[in-house]
Amino acid sequence: MRGKLRPVGSKVALPSSVPISLPWEEHYHTEFCASGTDALAISVGIAISRKPAIVRPEVIIPAYGCPDLVSAIFSQGAKPVLVDVLRESPFLDDHLLRESVSESTVAVVAVGFLGIPDRLGVLYQICRKHNLLLIEDSAQCFPPASSTEPLADCIVVSFGRGKPINLLGGGALLCSNKVLEDNWTKIESYPKLTCNVGVFWYLKRMVFNLLLTRKLFAILEQLPLLGVGHTKFRPHKATFRYQLPQDLVFGGIKEYIRRPLIHRWYDKHLEFLEQSGWRLLNEKNLGVGSSGTSFPMLRYGILAPNISVRNEAVKALNSAGIGANALYGLALHAINGVESVRINGNAEADDFASRLLTLPCHEDVTEPDLNQIASVLTRFVQ
Ligand SMILES: *Cc1c(COP(=O)(O)O)cnc(C)c1O
Repeated sequence: MRGKLRPVGSKVALPSSVPISLPWEEHYHTEFCASGTDALAISVGIAISRKPAIVRPEVIIPAYGCPDLVSAIFSQGAKPVLVDVLRESPFLDDHLLRESVSESTVAVVAVGFLGIPDRLGVLYQICRKHNLLLIEDSAQCFPPASSTEPLADCIVVSFGRGKPINLLGGGALLCSNKVLEDNWTKIESYPKLTCNVGVFWYLKRMVFNLLLTRKLFAILEQLPLLGVGHTKFRPHKATFRYQLPQDLVFGGIKEYIRRPLIHRWYDKHLEFLEQSGWRLLNEKNLGVGSSGTSFPMLRYGILAPNISVRNEAVKALNSAGIGANALYGLALHAINGVESVRINGNAEADDFASRLLTLPCHEDVTEPDLNQIASVLTRFVQ
């Protein structure tokens, strides 16, 4: 049994009692929530209550993305509006976005992708013009882009499995002072769950971390019941805040910032693919800065020339013991259960979903793994 390098997910760090400042502390209030989805649901609730006269509130999201976005919006009685993404990008097409704003729009969600935030400056202008709440969904990116330039009104952070900082669940809603002042009574009305860091938590941590090892991950993947890596739409039921012990957050952040910057290796060693119709989804190509993030990325995305090359490459990498995958596999409109949405374009989202392949960036990726990945991908250039 050779084992398999997991596609995503970092080990749960030990709690740390030595405080560090949260990167957004200067501009945002932190309200811990039961998950990223709960934090998003509360943000949407806030957006709706800012415009009480609207009967069918709408929230704009990109047409490619995590189905949890849709469930969080549905849970507040709003309607998701899917706006197509830019060509070869997971980010909102801002021309289509301007067209999609209606009398009923209450918010725009700027969704970060695998460690790269959407262009908040552009989205901020559109939101100010139409008096919409700008929500930065930073579930896949840490720290959120608004920590340094506080453009978003609300920010969503996730501490779930398979997110930048894994605390075995939880999330945070970060609100600007204005949003907090105007909505505290509403925020406070959500009940709070507690998180006990006792013997059971340490046991759970140990088991979880073990399951991330190559041998056990290879077995786990074979158990269809667990549905590892399958994208499903799940309705979001009740929304909760969370009494998350600060020590977990401190420990998680400290471990995160010590991780190696694997994406820099991919930037350099996979560039040869671009001559053969592949595209690296780094900050430079996505038009959001050119230097590349100095924080670890969640995964590294690349676009294959077409769906069949993508599927073959995923197969070949997995046979070589590398957990590469297609992420969601489908654009949002095509996922079962995502109905009664308004759509403004999905051609680019479909193209993106059919060509995306993601490579691991976590702390257990080794030099031999990287060489293996590059050597497998060499077979897919003409
Ligand atoms: C995972 C994810 C969420 C939801 O976070 P949970 O903590 O799993 O509820 C929301 N948005 C995006 C972009 C995500 O990737």
